[in-house]
Amino acid sequence: MTQTTASTCCYCGVGCGVLIEHDQQRILGVSGDPQHPANLGRLCSKGASLHQSSDPAARLLHPQLRLGKGLARSRIDWDSALDHAAEVIGRSIAEHGPDSVAFYVSGQLLTEDYYVFNKLARALVGTHNIDSNSRLCMSSAVVGYKRSLGADAPPCSYEDIEQSDCVLIAGSNMANAHPVLFGRLREAKSSRPEMRVIVIDPRRSETCELADLHLALQPGTDVALFHGILHILLWEGWIDREFIEQHTEGFDALKALVRDYTPTMVSELCGIHQDDLQQAARLIGSAPRLLSLWCMGLNQSTAGSAKNNALINLHLATGQIGKPGSGPFSLTGQPNAMGGRETGTLANLLPGHRDAGNLQHLHEVADYWGIPALPERPGLSAIELFEAVRNGRIKALWIACSNPAQSLPDQQLVQQALAICPFVVVQEAFATSETCQFADLLLPAASWGEKDGMVTNSERRISHVRAAIAPPGEARPDWRIAGDLAQRLEKQLRPGQRSLFAFDNPAQIYDEYKGLTAGRDLDCSGISHALIDRLGPQQWPFPAGAEAGKPRLYTDAQFPSADGRARFVAEHYQPPREKREARYPLLLNTGRLRDQWHGMTRTGTVARLFGSVDRAQLHLNPADMTSRRLREGQLMRVSSRRGNLVLPLHGDPAVASGQAFLPMHWGDRFLKGLGINVLTQPAFDPLSKQPELKQSAIRLDPVDLP
Ligand code: SF4
Repeated sequence: MTQTTASTCCYCGVGCGVLIEHDQQRILGVSGDPQHPANLGRLCSKGASLHQSSDPAARLLHPQLRLGKGLARSRIDWDSALDHAAEVIGRSIAEHGPDSVAFYVSGQLLTEDYYVFNKLARALVGTHNIDSNSRLCMSSAVVGYKRSLGADAPPCSYEDIEQSDCVLIAGSNMANAHPVLFGRLREAKSSRPEMRVIVIDPRRSETCELADLHLALQPGTDVALFHGILHILLWEGWIDREFIEQHTEGFDALKALVRDYTPTMVSELCGIHQDDLQQAARLIGSAPRLLSLWCMGLNQSTAGSAKNNALINLHLATGQIGKPGSGPFSLTGQPNAMGGRETGTLANLLPGHRDAGNLQHLHEVADYWGIPALPERPGLSAIELFEAVRNGRIKALWIACSNPAQSLPDQQLVQQALAICPFVVVQEAFATSETCQFADLLLPAASWGEKDGMVTNSERRISHVRAAIAPPGEARPDWRIAGDLAQRLEKQLRPGQRSLFAFDNPAQIYDEYKGLTAGRDLDCSGISHALIDRLGPQQWPFPAGAEAGKPRLYTDAQFPSADGRARFVAEHYQPPREKREARYPLLLNTGRLRDQWHGMTRTGTVARLFGSVDRAQLHLNPADMTSRRLREGQLMRVSSRRGNLVLPLHGDPAVASGQAFLPMHWGDRFLKGLGINVLTQPAFDPLSKQPELKQSAIRLDPVDLP
């Protein structure tokens, strides 16, 4: 008999509610949940095809082990697999110390999965070497919010999109990356024609369909552009002096700094006409309600933190925060990137928005977990972590629900690191992940529709992801795999002591986790699985005793800093690390297609998602093709300082002259060699450690066909 289970989409950070139709054996269909506040029944092409991505042929079904590099893996039972892993990891800790072990997890894990992994790494193994692929997604936004507002808390809600008068979209192709939110914006704009939309993007992306003004800035010049806009706001008197005086610090330093960012200077540097700059400033300065939306175009940069803060500066200068329809609103890429921030599953964080570099915070968490202390040595962020693997410092690497062999920049170096790491465990649902080939131990994980737990979307809304069917074969939920390993390791590392991992179900894990949020800015202590099932998805903060979450933060202009004030951040524009030069004359940008997700381990199994784009192509401005005597479909060797691959050309007027664009999704399987990250660079922002995936200098050489 067909049944329906309400759950949440596992793709992007919009966090849409879905209704899963199933017969308890198979998932038969999905539809949008009209009750879910994020999507109100809408789904995009990816969400609407979730049921078709459950192809059993693509799944890992049994644990597999190999006893030496180059040998074939053999099927093994779960107990033997986890006993072996515990023995190898325990030996590594004994011989080389806790920091010889590392964990690399994912923004697609559920909150409970994150929590158990985090506790395993820090409380049991004794290392802060746990980072997430969310490092590639939003760590610059974390720094931006903390520096400006005092806490990592996006202050807005999706309903602000409908209520805004001017929506500034910077470095986000939300038409492809957050399609349901883009649909909400489109409907809002068509019902309120007076609404204005500004899009800041070097490329005329699909999102520009709604743009009243498109600022096609030179790649990486965002900080100069935001400072230039502030310069005009000051000149014209379009700032909120009362808000600045009463609720902020640091404005004088910023005012002095932006004096240099004259319209002439910014226009030349950013490649934007002065009239457009003036118009942007006028729209921003005169809007009754200003909302900014941004994503990877700002975050994935060696100046990612500075870009975030320069944009938030505009909101503080105009008092556009804490009111309906206004505020600086960073969009998260992955479905539970926010959950990783909340549980502190990034090397520099701790649960409950605490910092791993803060002694007081280390003591608080250690006390809560009932252990003597947490380590004070810093952990390694994603790029540093794989560098340490390559240098031989990491001897045992546990990868869960992520595909770093494809998704990290400078792919050849990452694959070299994985190939020489003495012990690599890959916990994964799909055999199609490029990282599986490097696993010494391969563990089958449950996937969407088969596991239970919480996720938090971009607007701080916590939703329940519910299981509809049992996992196939011997696949298990991620939290259980981590917990079972932990209980084995405890026999070596904490013999005779009470287990820290005696969890029977995700609701129990959530109840333990939320205690670490009590009294903090993200207080979720009033939330439980039962409460979400009763009231539906809720936004944090939601302290114990509350009746509803908070749709908007800072409505009283009180910020979570020591003095209650927000901070202007005054930092000069820094040029991108890699520039065009004679040998590499084009700048490569990367981004998303509407119908694919990440490395296509899941969407790549759905034929209809290849309907609009069925192959990787290098997008180039048609005038650049003409001047170089290149033709549509011509095969080119695309080279950066790190590697090369062969791709056909596609003339695309959306790409500016001197630039190129590649969708990020295409990996080794589809390109029959290395994926597109063979070209991208691992340089990262010094504060957020987020790598510069958006800008690499490349050159093109025709491929001689035999
Ligand atoms: Fe899923 Fe995002 Fe599409 Fe919503 S917008 S259905 S969360 S992929």
